[in-house]
Amino acid sequence: MNESVTFRKIIHIDMDAFYASVEQMDNPELRGKPIAVGGSEARGVVAAASYEARKFGVRSALSGVKAKRNCPDLIFVRPRFDRYKEISKKIHRIFHDYTDLIEPLSLDEAYLDVTQNKKGNPSASLLAQEIRDRIFTEIGLTASAGISVNKFVAKIASDYHKPNGQKTVGPEEVIPFLEALPIRKFYGVGKVTTEKMYQLGIFTGADLKLKSEEFLEKHFGKSGRYYYHVVRGIHNSEVKSQRIAKSVAAEHTFESNLSSEIFMLEQLEKIAQQLEKRLQRHKVAGKTVTLKIKYSDFSLQTRSKTLPYFVADKSLILETVKELLYQERMKDSVRLLGISLSNLNTDSERKKAVAVQLKFNF
Ligand SMILES: [Mg+2]
Repeated sequence: MNESVTFRKIIHIDMDAFYASVEQMDNPELRGKPIAVGGSEARGVVAAASYEARKFGVRSALSGVKAKRNCPDLIFVRPRFDRYKEISKKIHRIFHDYTDLIEPLSLDEAYLDVTQNKKGNPSASLLAQEIRDRIFTEIGLTASAGISVNKFVAKIASDYHKPNGQKTVGPEEVIPFLEALPIRKFYGVGKVTTEKMYQLGIFTGADLKLKSEEFLEKHFGKSGRYYYHVVRGIHNSEVKSQRIAKSVAAEHTFESNLSSEIFMLEQLEKIAQQLEKRLQRHKVAGKTVTLKIKYSDFSLQTRSKTLPYFVADKSLILETVKELLYQERMKDSVRLLGISLSNLNTDSERKKAVAVQLKFNF
């Protein structure tokens, strides 16, 4: 049977020891030294370790006590998440020079779909190199990259020449690459699954391929089907950018709680105004209007109505909001009101995501 395969050009970018590298960049006295971000020698767990510390077996999720035992010179550094977020934003700004189809996995990892890109460059490998060069020169940090036809293979590939390296697995290389891959390196196969695979005689992708879909489903449930497909290079999951939001919202917390519905309506008008601006900025309209109410006891209530048509203007939204407001009595005084619009007319955009057939330069 021939499964349909969509080839895209996907880059997975993964910053090298991100939190630790940021700390070493900002604090020159930490450079070249084994450091752990998070935890302490007495308690807690390590969130990230510098490469100097990794040589001693210090890894994320290791307890601070064990980490210090493994590496007596280890320096513990308090995490500064605001700083990591700030740098992550800068990195994303660089990404956006290439594509808007960006799916972050965390602050330091993201998939980029560059099948069609703003540079008009057909080589995803060259783009990855350029992006990594820019991250280094403009921010001062190193990143690794995996480049392939789908997210699954790109994600695995970014680990290959880490740190500060990249690996491309082109369309013709995908199958041999996956066949030779140790099963524990498959994305989505954790420690427990690896053990189970070993017991079933599956040590590599090639071993996995010998098993039927039924067999894998029997032993791994839904994941079994996923394994069956990914080892054949079939992974059609799209890069889901956050730019295409699922909803647009505006809300306001009041300095003193409101109990009169007249006052609430007044406030809702202002909120609707704000929402309208946001909708205009994003050039979207939506069908589902939701009124969010937070009461003075902090309990939360939402009331929604879906219209048969798309709305984007203040007065139409407010009409529905009024209806929702008077639908039932407020059970307490109100400290926050919000309006959101979902079921947006951009949802279908994503489905148009470029499906390109073989024959392209990687
Ligand atoms: Mg990383």
